[in-house]
Amino acid sequence: MLIHKIEDVREQVKAWKKAGLKIGLVPTMGALHAGHKSLIDKSVEKCDKTVVSVFVNPIQFCAGEDLDKYPRTLDEDVKLCENVDIVFAPTPNEMYGEGHILSNDFLTYVVPPYFYTDKLCGKSRVGHFDGVCTVVNKLFNIVQPDFAFFGEKDFQQLVIIKKMVKDLNIPVEIVPCPIVREDSGLALSSRNKYLTDEQKDLALVLSKILFNIKSCYDRGIVDVKALSETAFEYLTPKHSLEYLEFRDSENLEEKTVADDDTRVFIALKIGNVRLIDNISLGT
Ligand code: AMP
Repeated sequence: MLIHKIEDVREQVKAWKKAGLKIGLVPTMGALHAGHKSLIDKSVEKCDKTVVSVFVNPIQFCAGEDLDKYPRTLDEDVKLCENVDIVFAPTPNEMYGEGHILSNDFLTYVVPPYFYTDKLCGKSRVGHFDGVCTVVNKLFNIVQPDFAFFGEKDFQQLVIIKKMVKDLNIPVEIVPCPIVREDSGLALSSRNKYLTDEQKDLALVLSKILFNIKSCYDRGIVDVKALSETAFEYLTPKHSLEYLEFRDSENLEEKTVADDDTRVFIALKIGNVRLIDNISLGT
């Protein structure tokens, strides 16, 4: 069932709650692919009812980012959601009010701690995670899910959402879901649609760098500087590396010596397309 109005979701949720049904929420920005589908299938398996939200959230885009050209494919998204109970696709006006003014002087924001947002993607995408936490909070209040499903593809987001849920005592269990990749290793992403064939080949370096670091670690190399240096053989002038960082999986603290709790994070640009990926060094 495709629903655009908050009130209609609330009405349905109320009936489900009354019947004692467990609700799963999968928040997305649409342009759904097999990565999203893995979250959806997990929710359908675990919960009585599943709500997938499809909303390109304006307040999580920074100035100069791809808000206007972000792919919007609602008809196809709905088809991919055949096993879902509600596809919730609100307009920005529905979420933020008619004539919304999206500055934090006019909207109540949920702002996660700087310790978690001043690094990795938060460094270049200032305010991004405020926008994410604010919209996810709103979705939690609208759908009141028992479980919410988030991909490890956006690992910093997952850590920040878990922190928000803990700090604000939100009654929802966050379920992390592994990264779904193409056979080539490339992590699925809605932004892969922007890539030309040549750029898609160039994009393989993200997973190649990560897989190589993991295999070096498995062979006993734990010095982060040495592991980082292995990346340079893959990078070309067509890759603009934003970061390659080794951080703790729980709290994102920086590591100088890698261990099983370490996660390696990479972000780079190919042309105008910014891509991210990450891998755990543990099993
Ligand atoms: P997005 O539509 O990009 O905001 O993503 C919605 C959710 O799907 C987020 O929790 C993402 O982490 C997750 N997701 C996106 N791509 C993948 C992927 N390749 N594997 C697993 N989860 C993913």
